[in-house]
Amino acid sequence: MKNINIEKIRNTGICAHIDAGKTTLTERILFYANRIHKMQEVKSKDGNGPVMDSMELERERGITISSATTNIEWKDYKINIIDTPGHIDFTIEVENALRILDGAVLVICAVNGVQTQTFTVEKQLERYEVPYLVFINKLDRSEAKPFEVVKQLEEELGTNPVLLQIPIGKGENFSGVIDLVSMKMILFEGNFGEIVVKYEIPEEYKKEAKFYQDKLIDSVALHSEELTESYFEGNLNEEIISKAILKCTLERSVVPVYLGSAYKNTGVQLLLNGIIEYLPNPTEKEVIAYNLEKDKEKIVIEPNPNLPTIALAFKIQNNEYGQLTYLRIYQGMIEKGCKLYNNRDKKTIKVPKIVKMHATSMEKIEQGYAGDIVAVFGVDCAIGDTFTSEGNYFTFRDSYIPEPLVFYAIKLNKSEDEKQFAGAVSRFMREDPTFKSYFDAETKETIIAGLGELHLDIYLERLLREYGIKIEMSSPRIAYKEKITATTSFSYTHKKQSGGRGQFAKICGEITPSGNDENVFEEEIKDGAIPSEFISACEKSFFSCLDKGELVESPIIGTKIILNDGGFHEVDSSPRAFEIAIKKMFKKYYQKCKPSILEPIMNLSIVSPSEFRGNIITIIRQNRGDIKKVKVEDKISKIESTIPLSETFGITKKFRSSSQGKAEFNLSFKEYSFLPKNLAMEVIKKFQQKKEEY
Ligand code: GDP
Repeated sequence: MKNINIEKIRNTGICAHIDAGKTTLTERILFYANRIHKMQEVKSKDGNGPVMDSMELERERGITISSATTNIEWKDYKINIIDTPGHIDFTIEVENALRILDGAVLVICAVNGVQTQTFTVEKQLERYEVPYLVFINKLDRSEAKPFEVVKQLEEELGTNPVLLQIPIGKGENFSGVIDLVSMKMILFEGNFGEIVVKYEIPEEYKKEAKFYQDKLIDSVALHSEELTESYFEGNLNEEIISKAILKCTLERSVVPVYLGSAYKNTGVQLLLNGIIEYLPNPTEKEVIAYNLEKDKEKIVIEPNPNLPTIALAFKIQNNEYGQLTYLRIYQGMIEKGCKLYNNRDKKTIKVPKIVKMHATSMEKIEQGYAGDIVAVFGVDCAIGDTFTSEGNYFTFRDSYIPEPLVFYAIKLNKSEDEKQFAGAVSRFMREDPTFKSYFDAETKETIIAGLGELHLDIYLERLLREYGIKIEMSSPRIAYKEKITATTSFSYTHKKQSGGRGQFAKICGEITPSGNDENVFEEEIKDGAIPSEFISACEKSFFSCLDKGELVESPIIGTKIILNDGGFHEVDSSPRAFEIAIKKMFKKYYQKCKPSILEPIMNLSIVSPSEFRGNIITIIRQNRGDIKKVKVEDKISKIESTIPLSETFGITKKFRSSSQGKAEFNLSFKEYSFLPKNLAMEVIKKFQQKKEEY
């Protein structure tokens, strides 16, 4: 077996709020690691985008949709880098990237600071316990305020940031940093900042550097006894400080903060050093899998290439060569021609071709080993599938997949496109489980569903560009829910006893709001008034009643049933009779519980030049929005608000036209909340009309 130096591998993601600069940063990283020889700017005039934004659509819109992976060598380390999308509508890509990463870099704009998507990403990093570094970018901008951003990281994001650097020069004059570990000034010289030069700290920065180094040591010493001891013994050195920072980063008790300007080629190489110095190698992060043969018993995976193989498919892409599946190999190895077992569909597949990806190009390899990320060709599978060597049966925990919030009924312009359409959407669904498409047998419509307007717009454009399929869409429909607001007692007997074996079931109890969004079944049956086998039939039937409410046939939430009495017949009672009893009772009593409709409410945050603040607040208020917080910092205003999802369609255009295209906004799901009565009536009326049409 080949001797792999797994300690010299880093699997790192780059995440951020949209526009913080992660595509630009990744481009610089590729350049310094000699992966590319010319840098491209995002939205450059010659029509060439950066290497990592591969889809044509991404280039046009200047945003990153699907995460691209690449790998570089830095010093003698191998770093796999995943560029993750920043827009919330593509959150599933971020989730899937984070669950397979060992470490991450969170890019934050020095001007806009902590933004909504920063919160979302931080939560995800926490969910998967990923240690990370922060890179505060755009220090070349005159409005940059790195120290304020560090404060926001602490106060708004609730992390424990420690600055490892302080800046040299402000705005346009930003030229480098003082490294607080080595206590040297580092400047980036040459045409592309490729020459990294160390200098002694200039006199005028000495006091500030000492102040921030003390701060760094204080923060880290709280979590490192070794550092505290060395400090008191007076033998503190660079190595001891670095070791303590590593320990704290791995246990996530501090977040090291780097400074730079990707655009102006400043600070990127030091961040790369940070990735290898402070982010974990594959042996330093515990990975759990579940043994499917032993009732999902937990095992800790060892990243040992000599053990049986366990790998996770975390991304799927289709291109002209067929399906490309990205695999994180956790244990064992994968070899060209080897057989792997898919633990979801229980099929064994043969691996025809293994590659390492570099944005859109690839390099053929013969084997991949534990700890690494590779891509395989010609393997039919879905995102999230676990592959093992034959005779081993394991799985990982499921990723969090948000439910669709928006639906469109669609019609193909040309009916001969039907087959191709089916192929395209099944491909999209395998790549992105938050995108759904199905045929609604009741309305006889084809539906596509997703997380928001932009999310679905992207797929419509892909249908057109990649498949030449044009479709017509209905106006959007919202994923409503229904919830009861009142308590009702019930007593119901289902009886059919004329001729042959009859049916008999009597049920008594109460339907009441559960107090939260959960549905609950409770039984307080005494003296065997209903035998237990019939009680479980009642439970099953109750939950199936909640699939569709009567108002707009949406799922019912927040409802509790307490079954406390009833009756049965020795011969005529059966589980089926009790199921029917519950169904009929629920139909009879549902309206008495005063059900109402709930709609999805979104968090909406906007960053805009202050002169447009008034316009933006007006638009939010005109669309049933609720302003929560307005923060004015010099010329920039940050507006935090909530707004019903139904009011967000087309709002992009309104914000753009009222801010000369300068407002940046971000939407993310917050909660379900009751629709105002008049609107609820309207929604019900429209639903009934539509129902009569089909
Ligand atoms: P992403 O959405 O996070 O991938 O961000 P991009 O890399 O696409 O950058 C968004 C915009 O910010 C682009 O116009 C970049 O040219 C610009 N940008 C990125 N990094 C910097 C930086 O360090 N300084 C300045 N001034 N602009 C930057």
